[in-house]
Order: sequence, then C-alpha cells, then structure tokens
Amino acid sequence: MLPIIKKTLTNFLLFFFSSFLISEPKDISIVIHGGAGWFSSMTEEEIKGIESALNKAADLGYEIMLEGGTSLDAVEKAIIILENNPLFNAGKGSVYTSELKQEMDASIMDGSNLDAGAVASITSVKNPITLARYVMENTEHVMFSSIGAEKIAKEAGLETVSPSYFYSEEKLERAKKKIKADTKMGTVGVVAIDSFGNIAAGTSTGGMTNKKPGRIGDSPIIGAGTWAENGVCGVSGTGHGEYFIRLNVAKEICVLMKYQNLEVKKAAQIVIDRLAAMGADGGVIVLDNMGVPAMVFNTPAMARAYKNSTDYTFVKIYRD
Ligand code: ASP
Repeated sequence: MLPIIKKTLTNFLLFFFSSFLISEPKDISIVIHGGAGWFSSMTEEEIKGIESALNKAADLGYEIMLEGGTSLDAVEKAIIILENNPLFNAGKGSVYTSELKQEMDASIMDGSNLDAGAVASITSVKNPITLARYVMENTEHVMFSSIGAEKIAKEAGLETVSPSYFYSEEKLERAKKKIKADTKMGTVGVVAIDSFGNIAAGTSTGGMTNKKPGRIGDSPIIGAGTWAENGVCGVSGTGHGEYFIRLNVAKEICVLMKYQNLEVKKAAQIVIDRLAAMGADGGVIVLDNMGVPAMVFNTPAMARAYKNSTDYTFVKIYRD
C-alpha cells in the first residue's frame, strides 16, 4: 500500500475511534498569542489593531468549532487572520533577515494522532500555516524547507505572492539598523480544543529581525515551538528560538503535565523559568485537556487572547 494512503487510513481510524471513545461533546476553547516582547515602541493605534485582530481570530476559531469544525481548522483559520495582518511578525508582516529578505517558518500539529507538518525558510507563500497543514495531510514527511517547500506549494495550487506583498518600510529599516533585540516580536500561535476533545496547535513567524539567511527558529520545530497531544496539552511558543529549541519548550511542558501530573500553569511556569535562567526571553500559550489555559511569559508583555464555552473572551497585551 502507498505510504500516503496507509497514513490517511491510519489517521482516519485513529480519529474515528478516538471520537467514538470521547462520545460526550466537550467544552471548546481557543488560546492565541501574537508574540512576546516589550511592545514599548508601539503606538496606541497599533496596540488597538493588535487587540482587535486577536479578538477576530479568537472569534473565528471559536465559531468554527461551535459549528462542529475541528480544532485543526480553528488553528489554521485563526492563524491566517494574523498572517494577513502586517502588525504581526508572520506572513505579511514578517521581519527581514540580515540580507534584507523575508524568510518564514510555520508548523501545525494534530493532537489526535501526533501528526505534524512544518515549513521553514519560505519566501513566497502567502499563508505559511496552510502549507504546513498541506505537508501534514498530503505528504509522508513532516518538514520541508525553502525551494522544496515552495515547490510543494506550487504543486498544491496554494496562493503565492511576490516579495512586494510582504514589504514593510519600517521593518526593513529595523533590519538595516542591525537591530537584534527587537522590542516588537509578533510571532503568532494558536492552540484549540474542539468538541471531540481533539487538541491542535500551530505557530507561524518571520523569525527574528536580522537573522542570518537560512536560520531556522523554534516555530517550525515540533516539540520546540509547537506541540499537541490529546488528553495532555497543546502549546505554542514565542521568543528567542534558539533557547526554545535547546530546551524543547513545548514538549517539555506537556511532559511535565503527562508524567508528573502538574497542572497547566505550573508546568508552563517551570519551563519559562528555566528559559529565563538561561538568559532567554519568551512566552507560551498552553491548553490542558479540559481547555484550561496558561499564558506565561518572562517579557514585560505578550499579546494574547482566550475564548471558551462560557463565551468569555480575554484579550491582553501587558501584565495584569
Ligand atoms: N520564536 C521565533 C524565532 O525564534 C521568534 C519570536 O517568537 O519572536 O524564530
């Protein structure tokens, strides 16, 4: 049997049986981040724009799941909203490399079967998260980079754009000034749990301002920037990617919850404290298997939103 058919069949059976076992409709929840950082140089208008985009993304993801859609759909569609908004560092608003180009990374994970898809160093795909999902669902591999990833996008008929689509004078100037510790981060990530109890997570980024060409951060690395596992948790991270990779941040949080039965906020805090002790900045959004969120960061701010079945929407950038 062709590997791709075998994979599709296995995933269908896993999904069918896990949905059957979890026959009670579950509460749905969605948590979103729009990057950790300082946000100090942002105008009032930009802050409002970020809050309104987070709200819109949370509402859309929530609606999708309310109408019986999956957490994977919610994650992808909510991330697309943020990728299309230049206020974030993902898709349209991606930051520039030291050679003044934009290279994007993204990943998505399906907690029902631990299936995952990721793309790195792509330059012309309008929505990197959609390509990551395509890789997950239509290839026998997990991760593609640069030319190979672009080729798959073309073959799949996904929307591609010219470099001018991503142009931002302000972001270009920051890269020209060789700013490394950027006060505006803006990577985006979403974690959702749907009425079938399935958890999904995704992350999308332009990386770090002034990164060297070809540098790949944590966002497309499964276990570092993204993790989802039904019955345990889902995570998306943002911050200094090299440290997230070395600590395997996303998976580490879920491992603490799975094997040490730690509650979601404690597990997230332990790992962020460890990250801080290594001298790194960043944050995570996490959902446990009941939809309880944790939004933990060691920077002055992290753009974040949460919405659950009680119709409670929470949108915040700075600390309480
Ligand atoms: N984690 C991303 C990276 O290192 C950047 C960020 O989240 O701001 O590529």
